[in-house]
Amino acid sequence: MIDILIVSYANQFLMKTDWLGLPFNPISAHYKKLFGRKVYKVPVAVVETCPNREGLRGMETCLFCDVWGSAARSEAFDLPLHAQIEKYKTHIQNKFKAQDFLVYFQAYTNTFTKLQSLRTHFDIALSFDGIRGLVVGTRPDCLSKAVLELWNEYHQKSFVAVELGVQSFFDDQLIYMKRGHDRLQSFKAIEQISKKTAVDLGIHLMFGWPGETDQQMIETARICNDLPITNIKLHHVHVLKDTGLEHLYAQGKFTPIEKDQYAQRLQIFLEHLSPRIYIHRLAAHASRKNELIAPAWTGHKMGTHQFLIDWLNQHQAFQGKQFLSV
Ligand code: SF4
Repeated sequence: MIDILIVSYANQFLMKTDWLGLPFNPISAHYKKLFGRKVYKVPVAVVETCPNREGLRGMETCLFCDVWGSAARSEAFDLPLHAQIEKYKTHIQNKFKAQDFLVYFQAYTNTFTKLQSLRTHFDIALSFDGIRGLVVGTRPDCLSKAVLELWNEYHQKSFVAVELGVQSFFDDQLIYMKRGHDRLQSFKAIEQISKKTAVDLGIHLMFGWPGETDQQMIETARICNDLPITNIKLHHVHVLKDTGLEHLYAQGKFTPIEKDQYAQRLQIFLEHLSPRIYIHRLAAHASRKNELIAPAWTGHKMGTHQFLIDWLNQHQAFQGKQFLSV
């Protein structure tokens, strides 16, 4: 028991120093270790659809997804890739005096395109000064052997990270959100990527689905602990304009999670999550003005973020607290 307490105390101390005083292991710490200093993501959009939107295998648009593919659409979206990078890199450079960047292929499904297009996009991105790597967003059922080989090829000359939209490890939730893949496909994709490539792998998860339980938070954390991933991006389910969820919400068939309840779920998840896994963000944020329908508490990005940090601190909660004590 004393040994456990000493380890736990030592880990808390480590967290306070390595985690910039946050109650979770921030992705910025990961990038700092990899690159020696802060790197900034330059979001770009190069594809305009995904298997769901194309109705492949009878699939439908994900219930929560807006017309921009759940990405931060910018006015530069319609520009050629090099112009998008130039515009946003310059903006970030001026705003933060940034010097190092990752080009983030975010919107829609970035492997739902021709291999040659992917290659061209990667080459354009890496041709800019200060670009330290590529981040590619995709989904578990949209990977081919050729895509994995391409990632590996580019990983030889640059950092390559993949963000996989897993969203949930519970099939009833995946069916509800019309995701079009099941949990086994997520496990298979994660295994394939980790065995066949050297890319930095992260997953996206969403909390706040109907019928979700605290126990599912614990199970999700335990599943993540055993996966070969380095990072997780967390979202709560929010209702955006022109989505399937908006219709359900309008009919009174979907109730968004309350602020305190989400904070509690987040706390349970983080406490059971291994401290080795980096966290991108604690909650979702609607990137376009007037797009958020509900819940209202999530309207202010920094306010929500600070509320969740305060909640964790007030409850003396931190990532790995329960993981360390078992
Ligand atoms: S969330 Fe991704 S996979 Fe689902 S409809 Fe939107 S872009 Fe397509």
